[in-house]
Amino acid sequence: AVARFSENIVSVCKPEEVELASAIGRITFSDVISSIDVPPHNNSAVDGFAVYHDDLNVSGSTTLPIRGRVVAGDNWIGNPERGQAIQIFTGAPIPQKTKVLSPDTIFMIEDVVVDGDKITLPEGQIKGANIRMAGEDVKEGDTVINYGKRLRPQDVGMLAAIGCSTVKVRAPLKVAIFSTGDEICDPGEKIRSAQIFDINRYSLMSLLKKLGCKVNDMGILPDDKDAIRESIRSASRDNDLLLTSGGVSMGEEDHVRTAINELGKLHLWKLLIKPGRPIALGHVNDDDREVPVIALPGNPVAVMVTFLRVARPLVLLLSGSLDIYPNYFSVPSAFSVTKKKGRREWLRASLVRDKGNNLKVKKYPFDGSGILSSMVSSDGLVELSEDIVKVSEGDLVDFLPFSEVLN
Ligand code: AMP
Ligand code: MG
Repeated sequence: AVARFSENIVSVCKPEEVELASAIGRITFSDVISSIDVPPHNNSAVDGFAVYHDDLNVSGSTTLPIRGRVVAGDNWIGNPERGQAIQIFTGAPIPQKTKVLSPDTIFMIEDVVVDGDKITLPEGQIKGANIRMAGEDVKEGDTVINYGKRLRPQDVGMLAAIGCSTVKVRAPLKVAIFSTGDEICDPGEKIRSAQIFDINRYSLMSLLKKLGCKVNDMGILPDDKDAIRESIRSASRDNDLLLTSGGVSMGEEDHVRTAINELGKLHLWKLLIKPGRPIALGHVNDDDREVPVIALPGNPVAVMVTFLRVARPLVLLLSGSLDIYPNYFSVPSAFSVTKKKGRREWLRASLVRDKGNNLKVKKYPFDGSGILSSMVSSDGLVELSEDIVKVSEGDLVDFLPFSEVLN
């Protein structure tokens, strides 16, 4: 369903330039190419002494006079002669005698004996030891970050390393969210009998914010066909994606599908999955724009599972990211279950260690798709594919840690 729905999706988020300090989680709009070598000069990886390897005795220690001192941030202008040692500090440039001739080996301070202005070096040092070469990390002209990448802390660090102070990214995806149901009451409001508090808007808002979206909270809609249709119509004008929960099953009071069909087209409905079967994907028309709608089920666990597995990749794609699918990890199961063939299922589960300290995945004891405490107590989801009919203890299962998708 995700692959099929993705075929019609391109990001509509416009480019903008942001400061590096606020670039975390943003999605790049272009490749970033380095205009410099990193590091920019050959430099020392340790505090110690720089020498010419050819000056060292092949067997036994070597004593050399100390001539000169070069610190980080300094361009030592002395001449590094053969037969001498130069004191050097971590990050300091290696002094050059000529373009091709310079000390080529560094001893750590811990490994040498200093006696006044002489130094004794042990035998056996490898030529080139403790020198970081210019460009060994990044070469001028290298592409350091690709188009469509969601920036992680190390990516932001890399942009800084090549001297960027800003980066071209996509504007945040504008997502409107709605809850539906006459029984749903916003936390903080006075609750009537037969009502429950709205969970889904709050978990969805949090999920979307983690993905860097701009969330437009459209509140709670009554189970009324016209009200739902008009709210969806009006939200489609200035949002890139509409996300609803509830009101999408078979019941007489489920009006979300009808509203989507009246304003555009329903593409997919009722997937062979558990939880979350009633999920619907479609679009509504706003002039010449087609605004995608993801109508999630109502039960709070089903909402989160279908968001993570179906909505999240689509949100990332719409946001301009090229990397939309999370990694699963194969972990031995600490449980056994049987399952209906032909349906994909997710179990809430946690990682545990057995007596031998091996990692295993344990299923949460209750399965109801309204049991939100099962999500609170779990570390992730076990995904059981359509062909599986039975899992026995010790079988490898696909585990999706929440840490992989709630970031
Ligand atoms: P529905 O598909 O609208 O029949 O909803 C299925 C179940 O999920 C019902 O028990 C609803 O009360 C519940 N539900 C729907 N929306 C929410 C919400 N926003 N927060 C908590 N529970 C909800
Ligand atoms: Mg409902």
